[in-house]
Amino acid sequence: MNSVAIVGAGVAGLVSALAFARKGVASTVFERTATLLETGAGLQLSPNATYVLDRLGVADRLKDLWREPDNICLVSGQTLAPITSISTKKIAIERWGSPYASLHRATLQKVLLQVIEAEPLITLKLDAGIKDDADVEALTGVEPDLTIGADGVWSKFRSRIPHAGKPEFSGMVAWRFIIPERDAPSFLNPRNVTAFVGPRAHIVAYPLKDAGAFNVVALSMGKNPGETWAAECNPGHRSEMTAQFASWHRDIRTLLAYAPKPTWWPLFGVTDGRWTDGQSNVLIGDAAHAMTPFAAQGAAMAIEDAYELAGIVTSGVALPDALAFFEHHRQTRVSRVRSRGSFNKFAYHARGPIRLARDLVLKMRSANQVAADLDWLYGYKAPG
Ligand SMILES: Cc1cc2nc3c(=O)[nH]c(=O)nc-3n(C[C@H](O)[C@H](O)[C@H](O)COP(=O)(O)OP(=O)(O)OC[C@H]3O[C@@H](n4cnc5c(N)ncnc54)[C@H](O)[C@@H]3O)c2cc1C
Repeated sequence: MNSVAIVGAGVAGLVSALAFARKGVASTVFERTATLLETGAGLQLSPNATYVLDRLGVADRLKDLWREPDNICLVSGQTLAPITSISTKKIAIERWGSPYASLHRATLQKVLLQVIEAEPLITLKLDAGIKDDADVEALTGVEPDLTIGADGVWSKFRSRIPHAGKPEFSGMVAWRFIIPERDAPSFLNPRNVTAFVGPRAHIVAYPLKDAGAFNVVALSMGKNPGETWAAECNPGHRSEMTAQFASWHRDIRTLLAYAPKPTWWPLFGVTDGRWTDGQSNVLIGDAAHAMTPFAAQGAAMAIEDAYELAGIVTSGVALPDALAFFEHHRQTRVSRVRSRGSFNKFAYHARGPIRLARDLVLKMRSANQVAADLDWLYGYKAPG
């Protein structure tokens, strides 16, 4: 394997370039935007993702910038009463071998770019978007040994892969905003990730040390807007948010009414389908398997994909066999993660008797049992 072309410089594309460089393989990354640092909002990085960042030499640069929350807490959105919690900071290292962290997405991107700039095997071409799959050769000039589509949920590259999945509206929308710690209400705890749960909706809030702020994401049912990325909230989106959380605790309604400059995100997934053409093209990250954020694993899966792909295709196995193995192995893991996301949605958005049963079951489970349920997910050590 001598050369790799990567379409898209999101988390998947940047980590991919780095993982190939660590294997001694040169890559060129083609990114359609002219600048990479404007993307807003926060990210939780679970231990399975921070493990890979550590292996790639990126985690050390992030440790002073991210926060390692003490606990993940589940709280009623209607009464603010605690339901259950898991002490992530303590057990992430002890049990899963790597930190659980939260940070601003732009910080991760900035640090990845710093590491990449010092890496002579990587060329990053900005303002170099592909319009369709045929464009890849036009951009790369020479035919690379492997071309990776890391161009997100609305991937153009995907049309190169026969029988690939398609974007599908999840029925859910999200509103995201960042609130400075000094302006935040006292029920937002800067030491914790807190999920406020309620009928058909939930809100996740967590601290961003690098921004001195909380990241807040509110999710509920919503209408399909068609092919749309995130947008500034218009008055219609804002009143939809107010209406969806109208029966929630007064303090939460006050927070949502105050929300500074929220963005609105219709949530699309990518349906099951092929990720490779069996020859020299492969999809990773959201382009392959965008998923709803109920398990906070989209970026983590993109990071694992990128790292494992580089390990598998440089292992000496013929490329078509390596790609077939990659697809099968990663689809098995991603499918389990998607199921966990569906389970979380069911549990978070429960109503009536199901909600009561959920609260009872969660209260009866020990912290050790709750953690053990997550060993397969957070304790996973991606082979590279
Ligand atoms: C509300 C919300 C909360 C989330 N929270 C979390 C979380 O806490 N933890 C977590 O792990 N995940 C989370 N995710 C998921 C995570 O954000 C995504 O899964 C992840 O960013 C996907 O990365 P990617 O690189 O595959 O795609 P993207 O981030 O979409 O990157 C694709 C890149 O390709 C570029 N591109 C697009 N088209 C072209 C083209 N034609 N030519 C060239 N370049 C192109 C884009 O400009 C972009 O730079 C969340 C998602 C949402 C919506």
